[in-house]
Amino acid sequence: MKQIIGLVVTALIFLSSCSSVPITGRKQILLVSDQDVLSSSLTEYSNYMKTAKASTNKNGAAMVTRVGKKIAAATEQYLKNNGLSSEIANFAWEFNLVNSAEVNAFCMPGGKIVVYDGLLKLVSSDDDLAVVLGHEVAHAVAKHSNERMSQQVMAQYGSQILGGVLAGQSAALQQLGSTVYGLGAQYGVMLPFSRKHESEADYMGLILMTMAGYNPNNAITFWQKMSANGQASVPEFMSSHPSDATRISNLKKHLPEVLQKYKNK
Ligand SMILES: [Zn+2]
Repeated sequence: MKQIIGLVVTALIFLSSCSSVPITGRKQILLVSDQDVLSSSLTEYSNYMKTAKASTNKNGAAMVTRVGKKIAAATEQYLKNNGLSSEIANFAWEFNLVNSAEVNAFCMPGGKIVVYDGLLKLVSSDDDLAVVLGHEVAHAVAKHSNERMSQQVMAQYGSQILGGVLAGQSAALQQLGSTVYGLGAQYGVMLPFSRKHESEADYMGLILMTMAGYNPNNAITFWQKMSANGQASVPEFMSSHPSDATRISNLKKHLPEVLQKYKNK
């Protein structure tokens, strides 16, 4: 009987925590509240920013802010037009350029985006940078971190903790909180995304940069540059990705649809 109740409770939680990714409409399970994700990730983020050195490249930093804000504004407008503003109600966008030779960029929940100096060496225009920032903004808007954490919580605790959370048991709530926080510490700021999330961020990023008025054709040329650069390490921006060839061919496949649906709209 207890087991049956557990199953019913789990099913109820799944139903109540099922949501859809904006733009793609993919169904996802988000078990952790936005508030819990943000409070743990903002601590990680501010710890990171305390140790990171700001870039001395003033023009580069201005470029990151300019392009980032334009993409964020277009994203907000799209969500507003589609009655989805609540999706990012707790966001506070930040676009930083950090001093590091690594070719990398990453995003944390709530719209905290960091680009490394090293990546700007491959960027020759705002349109190029929009490829990177569109991708990172997409990770944030699609709540890939929350989804990832939810999967971990399910894998570790299953219905046991979910039942407790639904019943409002503070011990279970605490356990959930510490799991989320522990995950943040475990992965640091470089939470690795799955291949599915990377492909989704590529597709959504292409749309977001286009809506912001940037040229999505640059996604192809920029990725060709990245591929030719051939990184020895695997930064977030390239991690778990399909091979460069697959990624570029997927982007090419999406281009006509994106141009037709989202350019000058
Ligand atoms: Zn990514």
